[in-house]
Amino acid sequence: MTQISEAKQGNITKEIRYVSKVEKIDVEIVKRRVASGKIVIPFNPIHSPDILGIGKGLRVKVNANIGTSREHCNINEEIEKAKVSVEAKAHAVMDLSTGGDLDEIRTRLLKTVNVPFGTVPIYQAGINAIKKHGAIVDMTEDDMFNMFEHQAKQGVDFAVTHVGITKVSVERLQKQKRLIPMVSRGGSFHMAWILHNEQENPLYKNFDYLLELAKKYDVTLSLGDGMRSGALYDSNDRAKFQELLVIGELVERAREKGVQTMVEGPGHMPLCDIKSNIEVMKTVTKEAPYFVLGPLVTDIAPGYDHFVGGIGGAIAGFAGADFLCYITPAEHLSLPDKNDVREGVIATRIAAHAADLARGIDRDVDFDFSKARENLNWKKMFELCIDPKKAKEYREKRLPVEYVETCSMCGNLCAIEIVKKYLKEQGK
Ligand code: SF4
Repeated sequence: MTQISEAKQGNITKEIRYVSKVEKIDVEIVKRRVASGKIVIPFNPIHSPDILGIGKGLRVKVNANIGTSREHCNINEEIEKAKVSVEAKAHAVMDLSTGGDLDEIRTRLLKTVNVPFGTVPIYQAGINAIKKHGAIVDMTEDDMFNMFEHQAKQGVDFAVTHVGITKVSVERLQKQKRLIPMVSRGGSFHMAWILHNEQENPLYKNFDYLLELAKKYDVTLSLGDGMRSGALYDSNDRAKFQELLVIGELVERAREKGVQTMVEGPGHMPLCDIKSNIEVMKTVTKEAPYFVLGPLVTDIAPGYDHFVGGIGGAIAGFAGADFLCYITPAEHLSLPDKNDVREGVIATRIAAHAADLARGIDRDVDFDFSKARENLNWKKMFELCIDPKKAKEYREKRLPVEYVETCSMCGNLCAIEIVKKYLKEQGK
């Protein structure tokens, strides 16, 4: 039985109990939210990853995307990137590989990664279709469903399916004068397929069959944001909301059938659009966990998109997003290397933590850190900070020579020390 089916029957699984413990939320509340689809626990027993809850009232979580491309394919590099992601404390990892032996890559990554593991099965289905039939648009319905089941059997914990790309949403997109019509790779496969074959998206048309497969393996569906904006100019437009309306209906059907479901979000959008996007999404889906890709709050900072995504991620998390997909400094420029992956995870964790603080979660950590800062307790600060490695490197790069308790920024003019000294003299 899936987590949601168990919860709907009133059962508290060991996964629900664990989420309640680590998130410090009453177990009955967690159970009710899993039952109503407001919290998901991506957990395919074949993979049996570390337990992770995503959704209402829980800490904001971070996902790291890794994977080969057809231009750059080195399995060992991807294994290394997976390890770096987990060491930097990404809560989940997705394999978006499109180059090399995809089954071997996935099998090795699943063995390496102990956190929930996600994929986009349509990538491999599309690539196989090119080999087998000559083009992505020649993919058959069976190719799509069989690939989903194949990856579920391998142990994938959550899978993106672009079920909101339908004939209607494609028509809406065609009427919309977008600057960049579509940037979702999976979305583009489906749009091309629909237009070429003049038929409905099979994953949408036969959604009940997709649900049967997802239920069999308890794969959490991540309903893909194929219509996400790839430019600020296209943010929150009709095509996006058309797709979201379809997705809202499908979320309800998934819950009825006992399938855990999250919903993907944008994308490029100005700061001022983030809150309304999340409010509409949460309303339409009756509070499904929201997995946002950024959001990227400006288009013009390639090389710094981890920072751009961090700003958007923090606002999104505060407004109610539950799961942030990291962005690396290499975004829009190249396949990231392991350093980019590390920077991306850390930047996104900062965004997630900032959102948590604003929601009143984990404030004691910042309190303890500030106490350590006031006491110039460097050991404690390194213990509590998000990236101890970088913090230590900076301190040690220019250690104070004379006033060793302080740092080399002010030395004997350390404001903390000066104030402490004179407050002490006053007996305060
Ligand atoms: S020396 Fe300056 S920057 Fe460093 S701890 Fe003291 S007040 Fe802060």
